[in-house]
Amino acid sequence: MTGFAQRVISIDISGIRKMAETARQNTINMGLGQPDFDTPENIKQAAIRAIENGKTGYTNNAGIDELRDAIAWKLKTENDLKHLERKNILITAGGSGALHAAIASLVETGEKVVFNNPGFVSYEPLAKLFGGVPDPIPLTPELHLDVEALKERFSDKKCKVMILNNPSNPTGMVETKETIKAVVEAAEDSNVTILSDEVYEKFCYGNAKFFSAAAFGDNVVTINATSKTYAMTGWRVGFMAGDENIINQAVKIQQYSLACPTSIAQYAALEAYTGDQSSVKIMKKEYETRRNILIGGLKNLGIEVTPPEGAFYTFPKLSAETVTEIVKNDVIITPGTVFGTLGEGYARISYATSQENIREALNRIAKVVN
Ligand code: PMP
Repeated sequence: MTGFAQRVISIDISGIRKMAETARQNTINMGLGQPDFDTPENIKQAAIRAIENGKTGYTNNAGIDELRDAIAWKLKTENDLKHLERKNILITAGGSGALHAAIASLVETGEKVVFNNPGFVSYEPLAKLFGGVPDPIPLTPELHLDVEALKERFSDKKCKVMILNNPSNPTGMVETKETIKAVVEAAEDSNVTILSDEVYEKFCYGNAKFFSAAAFGDNVVTINATSKTYAMTGWRVGFMAGDENIINQAVKIQQYSLACPTSIAQYAALEAYTGDQSSVKIMKKEYETRRNILIGGLKNLGIEVTPPEGAFYTFPKLSAETVTEIVKNDVIITPGTVFGTLGEGYARISYATSQENIREALNRIAKVVN
């Protein structure tokens, strides 16, 4: 078969998956961005109840009312986002579904989509798929957002959207309230819409504190998901929240691509957001312990690393050759260039794996770097 559309030929499969395919039997996989915890029991039980109660048909295209209400309430009470109601929430198939629907709704052919380089792997292909022009922007040497550089990009008339990912994948950095506020205000002045990807919001460590971008301006679409917070990557439930006008556009993308997110998974998500939250605290505490073991170990090996403040990744300086050797020694980590050209000389290491695995991985890495 030949004759594929240029829009799909022009994008490539994610480098993270390619690395994962090299795994052998005793390989420690620190390449993937998914919690190693099981979904909490109360959430599983809610899904079982949904099946038993026959909640198995299509839902509204925008998702079930109860979940939309619960998310509006969460955003108001936890994230300080005012004026949110059901009509401002679209339930999607994961954060990915929200990114897809938002970009499809906002970006015209030739318009620029700004995101940080290095940054999450989906942003560039999504921009391209919808005719946009990816405009990756370098981070500061400390791996934080460069507000002045962003202001300059926003002043370009073709700049339409900025995807602000905080806490960040792949760097693990968390931006301060001042930075978030400055970026949101600068974008608003230039009529650039911020897509605030907050999927790691619950995982901030030490003194790092999370702030939702939409608390500082109106031209912001909030994107989040159950995936990381509740260890629910396979359930595929996320959301976008914003002005009613964008929700009304994005719901059409959803209607004609997947009709609605899975009904059963939406009832599970309802329990996730409204039920007992103690599992989130337990997972966060465990990630923080693992982070400390990993960072301490890397530093002992003389590897240069800025301690991550959030998510479950660290982004140390490692040459491409060292990364190849580490992977050959059965620890999968991801070369920084998978996340953009400026990831060169770095690697992403995910600590969503057991303390035992992290210790063993450090032993294997030690063999390579010594
Ligand atoms: N945004 C970021 C920054 C992510 O790291 C991921 C998942 N790796 C997503 C969005 C997509 O999340 P989901 O699994 O909910 O689609």
